[in-house]
Amino acid sequence: MRIGKVMSETQKSQTIGDGHVVTLGYTLTVDGRVIDTSEGAGNAPVVFIQGTEQVVPGLENALYGMAVGDSKNVVVLPAEGYGEYDPEAFDDVPRSEFPPEIPIKPGVILHLRDNDDEVYETTVVSVDKDTVRLTFNHPLAGKELHFSVTVLAVREATTEELEHGHVHD
Ligand code: ZN
Repeated sequence: MRIGKVMSETQKSQTIGDGHVVTLGYTLTVDGRVIDTSEGAGNAPVVFIQGTEQVVPGLENALYGMAVGDSKNVVVLPAEGYGEYDPEAFDDVPRSEFPPEIPIKPGVILHLRDNDDEVYETTVVSVDKDTVRLTFNHPLAGKELHFSVTVLAVREATTEELEHGHVHD
């Protein structure tokens, strides 16, 4: 009599579901240009807990059921990415409201706290003598995101990781 090979828990092919820690290799292309990638020196795969919106919704939704070694191209529309571009999401703020030591120039990202203690991320559009023009649009708002991804690892998150909402080493 022959006994078939028994698969251990760890050998079972784990597929991506909520509460799993995913290690994902990726390249993000926007308007035909690579703007972010895990490939190459100094870059690293993204590691996150699936189902907690740590990556944009359109990408997260496309990952369910993928297994280690699987690759996929995912096109994410603005609504499922960094939002639609809002032509009214601009604000002009007096230069004097910014501490002088903060370098204010176009492209600089600032975190502003409002009266309700909410933190907003905003990008400097332009600066003149008295006024700083800010936009609350994400730099990738209105853009179609082209992801090329490969699943490098999948495991269950620990109870502690789920409580904290982030991945531990
Ligand atoms: Zn923690």
